[in-house]
Amino acid sequence: MRHPIRVLCIGGHPADTFDSAGGTLAHHVQNGDEVTVVALTAGTRVHDVVISDALRFADRIPDAPDLTALMAERAQVKEEEVRRACAFLGITDVRFFGYDDAVLTLREELILRMASLIREVRPHVVVTHHPNELGEYGNHHAMTAQLVLNGIGAAHGVGMGDPNPPHRVAQVFFTTSALVMPSNVLSAPLHWYPDLIVDITDVVEAKVRALDAMRSQQYGGDYARKTIEVVDGGIGSAGGIAYGEGFVTYQPEVSRLFPVSDWLLQRAAESEADLMHRRTRIIASTLDLPD
Ligand SMILES: [Zn+2]
Repeated sequence: MRHPIRVLCIGGHPADTFDSAGGTLAHHVQNGDEVTVVALTAGTRVHDVVISDALRFADRIPDAPDLTALMAERAQVKEEEVRRACAFLGITDVRFFGYDDAVLTLREELILRMASLIREVRPHVVVTHHPNELGEYGNHHAMTAQLVLNGIGAAHGVGMGDPNPPHRVAQVFFTTSALVMPSNVLSAPLHWYPDLIVDITDVVEAKVRALDAMRSQQYGGDYARKTIEVVDGGIGSAGGIAYGEGFVTYQPEVSRLFPVSDWLLQRAAESEADLMHRRTRIIASTLDLPD
């Protein structure tokens, strides 16, 4: 029996953590591990049915005080959705840093906040976006990952005014769901290759329900079903399973023996018919969701 570990997953926007790693995080909760998820920004400017969508077609944008109030109100709606979404996956430690998502830069204040989060949560494993995602430029995900990596470095030392002692993270996993298909020219040179695929087939229904909860960003219903089929189904297919989440390991794994998983041993030994049957199972697209 391995000792329980602490897993900290940090996403740029409210839904990023469970969208890209929710199935894997659900497994860790089931295993008795401590899972903490953090959304760095409120995500209202890029991911909200009112702010980022309806206001585009308004005659005039509300003045700054009114807009600030509206953004705070919508951020609250999104936080409640995220808590509900995470509950489907068994995740209860859900945190919001609430930064504005207008401009996200590599700045000291945010790095130090990441470092104190890490000294407090003391994770063995950190999960975040890929630091080169979508060519890095103007990309909240890549910036979040770079802030996290800097924060991990800063957490190696003491923090001014931070009562928690320094902490070292054992391993970092970068999520790959946003890399499956390059969506602009800058993202094309980053090869999509997960060196770890986690089989999430047993919890895929919970993950669809989690995405479905994000109605504020229009992820409900068919979008939830389709994105799971396309992204998690695509990653799963690469690993010979129905649904998977892909990760890139930051540091080389250290081992006494060659690590070969039961999944790969089974795949090597089974018939093609069994492999194809497992790969082509369709769950998410037929799942019933509330209106
Ligand atoms: Zn995002």
